[in-house]
Amino acid sequence: MRKWRLLLIVSGLGIIFAGCQVNPVTGENEFNLYSVEQQKQMGSDYSKQVEKELGQSVKDPQLQNYMDTVGQRIARVCHTPSEGFIYKAIDHKSVNAFALPGGYIYITTGLLKVLNSEAQLAAILAHETAHVTCRHSAVTMSRDLVIGAGLSVLGSEAGAAARVANIVAQLEGMSYSREHERQADQVGLDYLVKAGYTAYGMIETMEILQNQNGTRTIEFFSTHPNPENRIGYLQERIYTQGYRGEGKTGQSEYSANVLNRLGK
Ligand SMILES: [Zn+2]
Repeated sequence: MRKWRLLLIVSGLGIIFAGCQVNPVTGENEFNLYSVEQQKQMGSDYSKQVEKELGQSVKDPQLQNYMDTVGQRIARVCHTPSEGFIYKAIDHKSVNAFALPGGYIYITTGLLKVLNSEAQLAAILAHETAHVTCRHSAVTMSRDLVIGAGLSVLGSEAGAAARVANIVAQLEGMSYSREHERQADQVGLDYLVKAGYTAYGMIETMEILQNQNGTRTIEFFSTHPNPENRIGYLQERIYTQGYRGEGKTGQSEYSANVLNRLGK
């Protein structure tokens, strides 16, 4: 009996060591069972589900091209530029944006309509890009998989149920930790500035989202410290990093390529 237990522990440790990867943003080793290729495959599978169940991709090539142009400006300066990021607008009235593993990034028409500049759009895309480069979903899913597997071993149905619930939540970006959200805000702010946008695009976006607090948002408010705190630590980072207000705002571009085309 003892021997078996020991074997289980040893093989368990084996999985954990096999699952360690270097995080591209922090440079630290962490538990992540999914290779870049697997994350890409998962993202591709989920993206079909998203477009089927959550909202169709907006059928407007000019608007989609614009999303992609702004997104690629961010992707070029991120930690993993060769990942092949895909930025898309989907038709849904919720105020939302989310990232799937593998670099699939979505923003809803509901959110596009409440923004008013390219820098604000870039801020949202930068935050979501940072979730991908920081490997937040892959790390969260790896952890949940192990916890889920542990529960199943104990003979409980809860393990399997929790796993399914988790994947669905993951799809909607609900189960990032506060720490992950804070990191995505801060790393995203760096991407925004490196891409040539004003750092204040991120602050303005938070203020806009704060005013939307009454409406249902899936991602941005789900797991967060209150928005005032978010603005607080972003302002602090703008100060400590020496970011200035200079950089592109792009209000007229945003109106021409997004607001006017969505009939706003
Ligand atoms: Zn987030």
